[in-house]
Amino acid sequence: MFQLTRRGFLASSMAPLALAQEAGERPPARPAGVEVVNPRERVPLSWIIDDSTCLVNLNRFAIPQFAASMPGGGTYTHDWRSMPYEIPDEFVRRFAQWSQREGVKGKYSIVPFPALVGRVDRELPGWTPKELADSLNLVKKEIVPLWDIHPEMITHTRILDLKTGYAVEQRGREWMENWDWCKGRSVDEIAAYIAYGLQILKNAEFTCEGFTTPGGFGAGALPELSQAAFQAVREVYRTEIPHYFRNVIAKGEETVAPRIEYASGISGDSARAVVSIYACTGDWTGGWDCRQEPQVDLFITPDLAKGRMVEVIERGDPAVLLCHWTGIYFNGRELGFQAMQEVVRRLHARFKQVRWMTLSEIAHYWAAKELTAIEAVGGGLRLKAPYACGEFTLRWRMGAGGRPALGGAPLREVQSWQAMEPGTWRRDGDSVVACFSLAKGVTELRRAA
Ligand SMILES: [Zn+2]
Repeated sequence: MFQLTRRGFLASSMAPLALAQEAGERPPARPAGVEVVNPRERVPLSWIIDDSTCLVNLNRFAIPQFAASMPGGGTYTHDWRSMPYEIPDEFVRRFAQWSQREGVKGKYSIVPFPALVGRVDRELPGWTPKELADSLNLVKKEIVPLWDIHPEMITHTRILDLKTGYAVEQRGREWMENWDWCKGRSVDEIAAYIAYGLQILKNAEFTCEGFTTPGGFGAGALPELSQAAFQAVREVYRTEIPHYFRNVIAKGEETVAPRIEYASGISGDSARAVVSIYACTGDWTGGWDCRQEPQVDLFITPDLAKGRMVEVIERGDPAVLLCHWTGIYFNGRELGFQAMQEVVRRLHARFKQVRWMTLSEIAHYWAAKELTAIEAVGGGLRLKAPYACGEFTLRWRMGAGGRPALGGAPLREVQSWQAMEPGTWRRDGDSVVACFSLAKGVTELRRAA
């Protein structure tokens, strides 16, 4: 559970360890019988939505740019001209109202300069200034309360020349955000590129704690990407715990929990770390390009018994689903949206001990979970936390009759996980599970008299 040395984090096992991100510092091994568990004992759920932005149906404009970067157009033979150029705000509003009704949370991209059509902080050619302003306001009012906003680099297509603000002259896959541009570039250069996208969203008055990579951005430079992620998000937003989404593990036994990377200074009061969030499913809704019909049963089957989500939730890992906004809208047919609603209906029918969280909430919890030092001191526990954590939840084998107290104040005993909230504890055999608001710095968890 604790790594004192470097370890590799890769979605693919093909790359050698030397090219892997580093975990950085970790606290000493915890006392036997002490474990930080899921927040309020519920498995986190989150839904990642990629390729969304304001008004622009991204891939209608992206596909011809992808095709132009490949010899012979590659596989980008879609009839993009037949796709609507807009995903209307009326649809965004309906989606937002559904997510509010169901309590579904996650990440919603705003691609800052979608496929070079226009910058969301300046102007979108094809729409009036009022239409863009209304669209931005709709996202702020209806989406932001339950969803993190991420830029997905700058254009999601061609590399922008940061000096001129135009796309670079070069074509080819190494000059596209989706593929090989990062290879051989420095942390500073990659960070400047990420920061440019973040700054556009900051100009448009969004607050971001992380970003999403378009497709394979960062390929061949994963250690640099991870360090650049911290640098860019910290620089633009002063974010305490920056995070990013790039990697997907859609099958198998490997953990899909977030990776805490490049942790340092964890015993002082200005810790640094970046969190890489993993999705645990493929996009089995409408895909990014609407070429495939949804496959809801891959997430969870109609009898609620099988599927990737069932597997991951049952083992207690945060279960983060993936989809693309273009496929959710599905050129007006909304097939992805229907699939999404059915997945959520099935998940809610099967699982009660789960809770929807944003990616930034998950990133905060996991940073606190992994980096808080816990030692046994005179029958109690002494916690040294580099970050505060609102719903820190810990299982402690105290022995029969033990009752936990936070500092001098006893926690309130509850009878079930359903009643767990900050300031409570419950007995579970010879262990207790305690949930409390963990302050940054030192906290004592004692045995109540
Ligand atoms: Zn994307």
